[in-house]
Amino acid sequence: MEKKKYQLIIIGAGPAGLTAAIYAKRAGIDTLVLEKLSPGGQAQLTEKIENYPGFPKPISGKKLMNEIVKQVENLKVELKNEGVERIEDGKEKKVYTDVGNDYQALALIVATGSDPMKLGVPGEEKFTGKGVSYCATCDAPFFRDVDILVVGGGNTAAEEALYLTNFGKKVYLIHRRDRLRAEKILQDRILANPKIEIIWHSVLKEIYGKENVRGVKIKDLKSGSIYELPCRGVFIFVGLKPNTYFLKNRQEHLYSNPQDLVKMDENGFIITNEDMETNIRGIFACGDVRKNKLKQVVVACGEGAQAAFAARKYIEELTGTSY
Ligand SMILES: Cc1cc2nc3c(=O)[nH]c(=O)nc-3n(C[C@H](O)[C@H](O)[C@H](O)COP(=O)(O)OP(=O)(O)OC[C@H]3O[C@@H](n4cnc5c(N)ncnc54)[C@H](O)[C@@H]3O)c2cc1C
Repeated sequence: MEKKKYQLIIIGAGPAGLTAAIYAKRAGIDTLVLEKLSPGGQAQLTEKIENYPGFPKPISGKKLMNEIVKQVENLKVELKNEGVERIEDGKEKKVYTDVGNDYQALALIVATGSDPMKLGVPGEEKFTGKGVSYCATCDAPFFRDVDILVVGGGNTAAEEALYLTNFGKKVYLIHRRDRLRAEKILQDRILANPKIEIIWHSVLKEIYGKENVRGVKIKDLKSGSIYELPCRGVFIFVGLKPNTYFLKNRQEHLYSNPQDLVKMDENGFIITNEDMETNIRGIFACGDVRKNKLKQVVVACGEGAQAAFAARKYIEELTGTSY
């Protein structure tokens, strides 16, 4: 018979969930990891990571995450390819998945990260996969020698714009303000790159085309004028939406609703204390899904370790056993 009861279930196998799994397994906690896609998380989408310690040369996100997944597999952590759809609180937490399974655990760690936010402009949905993309590593090779527009002003937009210069003829970076939010080192690289042109204080109003993207309409926020810019690719990096739908009241737009299972902020990020404990005993959260100040691999790993440590203490209290 398939095993249904665990001491700890970790939801999500990105850097946060995988690190939590390493710490939990090494502490002797009976652990299951549930992942709706393939293990590795968002980090495997990026071409180069140069801010994760221990790698003097930039490492590809895919390679780094493959190594962490291998480490987890070597520890013989049980990992199942199932997405979590619903959770019920109780002394034993119940977890329902998208393949019709349900599991029970004394403690849960939510490490489900976040997905890219959409702009919501006309043409965005229609042309997704036909010129509109949220992942440069995945799609850049389709945009060789054509003009590309990147939307956003943070670290991800800057990194991905730089990467796209290896493919596109020209890369436009459109930003609503008159300075980027990206780290100084990235701003310097952007400004020094002759292939990148920044379109300051402007917003994307529409994406148009026939079968595929042919161009965009841009609004200059200073003059109010709207003009067309021909381009074949539109890469959107405007923020993240946390994967907390399975914890929420079913009404998508309501956050911090009394009926939500755990407390979240107005954007749906889970609120915890510094030990990664949510307001519900036995439910912990870590990584990009948590309300924190920096969404990076190194932070996700650190928080994953802390969440596993706190979950272990909780399980020890509950069972009277020391792990
Ligand atoms: C394009 C890009 C470039 C980046 N570059 C860098 C960089 O250079 N350096 C850096 O440090 N960081 C970078 N980041 C950020 C980094 O990837 C994230 O901070 C990190 O991956 C967060 O880890 P996480 O484990 O919290 O979440 P994620 O990596 O998002 O992993 C969450 C996992 O949970 C799974 N999941 C979601 N919902 C469910 C569910 N209901 N049931 C089961 N599983 C679920 C997801 O499929 C996913 O595998 C980049 C991100 C992007 C998108």
